[in-house]
Amino acid sequence: MIFCLTVDDVCLEGYSTEEDMHALLQFFRSEGILSTFFVVPRAERIRLQERPGYVELLKQALAQGHALGQHGLEHDRFETGIPPRMILDLPHESASRERLAKEQAAIEEGLAVPKLRERLCQGRQILEDALECKIGGFRAPCLSTCENFFTALSAEGFSYDSSMYLQEGGWDLLQGKALAPRPISRVDFDRSQHSSGIRSLPLTTEYTWYLRQTDFEATMALAQHDFDSCLRAGIPFVTLAHVSPLNQCEDGCGFDFYRQLIAYAHEATSAVGDELRLLNLDETYEVLFDEKELA
Ligand SMILES: [Zn+2]
Repeated sequence: MIFCLTVDDVCLEGYSTEEDMHALLQFFRSEGILSTFFVVPRAERIRLQERPGYVELLKQALAQGHALGQHGLEHDRFETGIPPRMILDLPHESASRERLAKEQAAIEEGLAVPKLRERLCQGRQILEDALECKIGGFRAPCLSTCENFFTALSAEGFSYDSSMYLQEGGWDLLQGKALAPRPISRVDFDRSQHSSGIRSLPLTTEYTWYLRQTDFEATMALAQHDFDSCLRAGIPFVTLAHVSPLNQCEDGCGFDFYRQLIAYAHEATSAVGDELRLLNLDETYEVLFDEKELA
């Protein structure tokens, strides 16, 4: 059974700092977790090359066995598609809702395959030049996808995408609604595989977005429900976290959350005679899809 803890928004102002990245690397090291960091290539119009502190941290991450993936180009909400409703409905996304209402035609025009390919290619080049490594994985900013996006990813030769989600209920609490876990099955995983040929490693949801102690128990119950569902379905359990929101959970409870969840996952997995593997997404892709490894 595979458990992947993934982290978004590296370099994105307001959601990432070098200090918080450093703290995550220390936490992952102490817990034996191999993570996947999705990096914004040109946040605030500053290319990764011009951020030596982050370049150093990300090279350390690679050396420690973590994987790096691409997270859009500038993290514009509409650069790879239109965000799903549960994200547009979040209180802090009001500007995106207004922009969509006013500019939908122009936004859709910007999602033509050649324009998408250019954006994907530009971002990837920035990351590969700065980090001197190959980038094969992608996650869309705000999980914004569209048909053309998957076609463009496949045409650009990316190995996998991790923008599809299996647990929409994770956004209920953030929207002030009562939490209602949605069922997760193998069918949902298979449905996330796109006909363009790009492989999909769908995530469940974000559990540690500025998590408060009052929501800790309900969120843990959701995460355990999702883990159990993935275990039964024989699919990897992929979680989504964000650099600063995870660090800034109330009283540091984001780190406690993952410690407890991983302990639970070890127990649940060994109870069915299997072993838990804390892998990054590149390794998970190889285990699941790489024909060379299977041959
Ligand atoms: Zn993001």
